[in-house]
Amino acid sequence: MNCPGCGQLMQQHSLEGNYGIQVEIHACHSCSGFWFDRKEHLQLTPGSTLELIRLMGPQRSASALPQVLSCPRCGERLVNTVDMQRNTRFNYLRCPQDDGHFITLFQFLREQLEPGHPSSHPARSLIEVGLSALQDILAAL
Ligand SMILES: [Zn+2]
Ligand SMILES: [Zn+2]
Repeated sequence: MNCPGCGQLMQQHSLEGNYGIQVEIHACHSCSGFWFDRKEHLQLTPGSTLELIRLMGPQRSASALPQVLSCPRCGERLVNTVDMQRNTRFNYLRCPQDDGHFITLFQFLREQLEPGHPSSHPARSLIEVGLSALQDILAAL
């Protein structure tokens, strides 16, 4: 699958999710974006979230996303979706047919770190385990 953000080939990773399910994600190492089928990122365990961040590593890419991104599944134009969780605003690009969504590492971390988010507990343990790694990544963005 090619990255909707920059067109590079994305790498598929299988991570452990909650309830023993396998979560398939596509990661772009060029622009630090992820494609999740449906809402799968909500299913990631703390270990998987950390693994995801480790997979990406600190990135130096600061290139802006194109104005129009297309769904890698159906080709429909992705819809910029903004969610507000308490005081934190984050956005991602969603397929209008619910094939999935594209989110950058920065937005993903912001979402995970949000206290009101369902996966806030994983995020807290994530901070404890990899605070310095996170800071490295955020500094590089
Ligand atoms: Zn990309
Ligand atoms: Zn689609």
